[in-house]
Amino acid sequence: MSIKIGILGYGNLSRGVESAILQNTDMELVAVFTRRSPENIKTKSGVPVFTVSELENYKDKIDVLVLGGGSATDLPTQTPEYVKYFNVVDSFDTHAKIPEHFENVNKAAKEAGKVGIISVGWDPGMFSLLRMISTSVLPEGKNYTFWGKGVSQGHSDAIRRIKGVKDARQYTIPVEEAVNRVRKGENPELSTRDKHVRECFVVVEEGTDKSAIESEIINMPNYFSDYNTTVHFISEEEMARDHKGLPHGGFVLRSGVTGFNKENKHIVEYSLKLDSNPEFTGSVIAAYARAAYRLSKEGVSGCKTVFDVAPAYLSPISDEELRRTML
Ligand code: NDP
Repeated sequence: MSIKIGILGYGNLSRGVESAILQNTDMELVAVFTRRSPENIKTKSGVPVFTVSELENYKDKIDVLVLGGGSATDLPTQTPEYVKYFNVVDSFDTHAKIPEHFENVNKAAKEAGKVGIISVGWDPGMFSLLRMISTSVLPEGKNYTFWGKGVSQGHSDAIRRIKGVKDARQYTIPVEEAVNRVRKGENPELSTRDKHVRECFVVVEEGTDKSAIESEIINMPNYFSDYNTTVHFISEEEMARDHKGLPHGGFVLRSGVTGFNKENKHIVEYSLKLDSNPEFTGSVIAAYARAAYRLSKEGVSGCKTVFDVAPAYLSPISDEELRRTML
């Protein structure tokens, strides 16, 4: 019997989850639910779309509900609400607010006897796991996380809000020299500016003062002022041709020492190069949806993060076969 999945919200990430479910033969996507008019939304796989109020009729027809909403305003309310009725998985990525989100989801999940796995993806998600495991293994050392090269949706949106800008794409790029110093075990102190640069591709309306826009971008507090930023003005055709994907990736490194005189250095490195951020994140979510289903079947309830889920729960392969083929 396959694990029955529902998806709430249909954006980039949800389409990634939809395609990931097609690659997992023990799962089946039952339906997508949206706050918008369902008749205007066609899913890529042809699975039906319903309005969100229909969800109450699916309490016994869905094993795990994946929440595809945004972290800023959707998930803080949607995850604690829907975990009252479903086992859920979300990809909440506002790092500073994860403890508060955990508490809210945990309370509701415990009361309802459901499982809610939060902050699933690559960061938070796979990167968090690697940071945690390598820190446990090498207690004396330093962690470094570099993101990119990849599109930052938040930074692209911030540029799009500037008057005169028609479209924008912002790439976050790790500074190679900084990455190499970490790889060599130098344990450098790196400022925000030392670690990443930001490269922007911008389409503006005719007659717009490009130098004023460039200056507004470069000096934008919180988004760009702490970084070395370059701005390229391009045509709409170039934007459509060269910048339509959502690639991302990055590296997590731990540089640690062992030995009685701390004489031996160790570098742990985990790297991701993703053609599609939402499709990879959706693939991680699919594996954790399997874990949510299994934990729930075992009578577990409450909020969990990637730290709390044993790796074997992610795999469709039996424990015996995992020991034989992957250990
Ligand atoms: P989107 O903006 O594409 O979708 C978010 C929600 O907005 C959807 O659930 C949908 O809800 C609504 N929506 C989608 N398209 C439209 C539209 N055209 N008009 C109006 N509303 C729309 O966000 P993403 O899918 O790109 O990302 C979702 C979240 O995933 C991000 O906020 C981020 O937190 C998280 N994420 C986490 C990662 C990690 O590593 N942990 C990595 C990548 C993303 P509805 O259908 O109900 O309207």
